[in-house]
Amino acid sequence: MTGIMQGKRGLVMGVANNHSIAWGISKALAAQGAELAFTYQGDALGKRVKPLAAEVSSDFVLPCDVEDIASVDAVVDAISERWGKLDFIVHAIGFSDKNELKGLYADTTRENFSRTMVISCFSFTEIAKRCAPLMEDGGAMLTLTYNGSTRVIPNYNVMGVAKAALEASVRYLAADYGPRGIRVNAISAGPIRTLAGAGISDARAILSWNQRNAPLRKTVTIDQVGSSALYLLSDLSSGVTGEIHFVDAGFNVTSMPTLETLRK
Ligand code: NAD
Repeated sequence: MTGIMQGKRGLVMGVANNHSIAWGISKALAAQGAELAFTYQGDALGKRVKPLAAEVSSDFVLPCDVEDIASVDAVVDAISERWGKLDFIVHAIGFSDKNELKGLYADTTRENFSRTMVISCFSFTEIAKRCAPLMEDGGAMLTLTYNGSTRVIPNYNVMGVAKAALEASVRYLAADYGPRGIRVNAISAGPIRTLAGAGISDARAILSWNQRNAPLRKTVTIDQVGSSALYLLSDLSSGVTGEIHFVDAGFNVTSMPTLETLRK
């Protein structure tokens, strides 16, 4: 197969099923010739991820829970042993206790605040630090964020705070690794129906609001996020780093509902 990712090898973290944003990204990368390794969190998800990996001709599928740093190290060791180098990573991991993805942000507990930050934000830094030495010829790192980082979205609460820190991490990591030719970017995706998305209270109402009020009058798909990720992970974006790239049908540029919505 030929394509713009031909000869490139990358690690995709965060496929849970065929609705996952990471799966949309994987399909776009594989269609352009990328060779992929996958991680999964726990045996139940492993059973779903292995057949998906096979669909894109990958048998390189490893368990990894980012709360257990030894499992992250084991993934990096396995890549080092099998491939010796890495061209890109996709970090599409997020978690918060769904009981705190509703109600007041102010009610967030210390325990869930820390856990959300470690899984949804700090894991990207830990993975980047471990993968950078495998990117001797340069590389690209990508994470997923959401508009709730800079705007108040009902119920997004502590995830919004974690995403703000994640976006700041993108900028600091871009500065750290830029001199080595490693680019670090994020896609800020509009709301999509996924396992993680379903954990946010009133997700359906938020999707509908975006669909009615985004300039393109629709919500985005995992395939649309995938093709934008392809750009950010390929040499097409060789001059881009530290960027938060919105793939949200333009919702982030609006400051009020459409007149059609208001008149209803
Ligand atoms: P998803 O449920 O398909 O993916 C979330 C992934 O995070 C799962 O694969 C899960 O296993 C993984 N994960 C959670 N805790 C983990 C841990 N401790 N160790 C390892 N992996 C862990 O949902 P998704 O919507 O595809 O989410 C992917 C990313 O996109 C997340 O960062 C999410 O915040 C972000 N995002 C989602 C939306 C949306 O509306 N769905 C919008 C913008 C950004």
